Amino acid sequence: MAAKILYSKPLIDNSISEFKKRVAAIVQKRGSPPKLAVVLVGEDPASVIYTSNKGKAAVAIGMKHQTVKLLASISPEAAFLEIKKLNEDPSVDGILIQRPLPKSFKEEELIYWIAPKKDVDCFHPENLGRLVLGFSGPKSCTPDGVMRLLAHYGISPAGKTACIIGRSAIVGKPMTSLLLNANATVIQCHSQTKNLESYTKTADILIVAAGKPHLVRAEHIKPGAVVIDVGIHRDAAGKIVGDVHAESATNVASALSPVPGGVGPMTINSLILNTIVAAENGL
Ligand code: NAD
Repeated sequence: MAAKILYSKPLIDNSISEFKKRVAAIVQKRGSPPKLAVVLVGEDPASVIYTSNKGKAAVAIGMKHQTVKLLASISPEAAFLEIKKLNEDPSVDGILIQRPLPKSFKEEELIYWIAPKKDVDCFHPENLGRLVLGFSGPKSCTPDGVMRLLAHYGISPAGKTACIIGRSAIVGKPMTSLLLNANATVIQCHSQTKNLESYTKTADILIVAAGKPHLVRAEHIKPGAVVIDVGIHRDAAGKIVGDVHAESATNVASALSPVPGGVGPMTINSLILNTIVAAENGL
């Protein structure tokens, strides 16, 4: 039997009305909607599109949105001063810095720039620490999107073996913490893992965030497993594909998130949710 396809659209459609209500309640209390500021350094075409999509998602639920465009030649010191202004601006609830950034920007320094309470991308070490410890606070958007997608389909990680392929700071590592905090037994694989299949085949929930098109095929999947595909790529024919070879995986998995239409839209949705929560925390 073919795997159930875990589309994110039903969840996103439901969330829109909930988000609009929460935004309206914030407006009623303080007279202004939540505001998301996105800092865009340079004009990388993909970043311009991602930034504009975040703005559209914010406006669609009645939030305010501001793009702060900085020249690619700006120094990290001058960029930090722009972020500082946003940190101090009471009308701004959430801030994110669109990646990638010019090479002169050191990730190890800039993760401290955004005030933790406005850090809706969850890059600040304080927020990542809280996430690891299972405390309240913003959650990394893509891993949170995965958790919300699982919850929407009634898939509980508790007591299950979850395997994550990938250990990036933006997906793999926070994904591990969220699953551990949800009582899964977690295996983390990465580019140096030998015999990947021996780990992935033990997983009840397999989360693939390797950035390698079609890395995971039927032979990597335990029969009946839930497979979540985080990867996004455009193949030679221009088609959007994931890290999972869906055509073969669907014959082995019990459920599979599609690409496109699965995790992708969840990331912006969780970003919007983090911004609403940041505004609610300030009431
Ligand atoms: P990354 O390149 O930073 O990390 C990839 C990770 O995969 C690394 O930790 C690496 O060790 C591991 N890896 C690479 N090749 C592997 C292999 N052959 N076997 C096992 N592990 C391997 O990428 P990222 O930022 O974590 O993103 C991963 C994928 O998810 C990309 O395709 C990216 O486009 C996509 N992504 C999607 C969203 C979304 O909104 N849906 C958000 C972020 C990333």
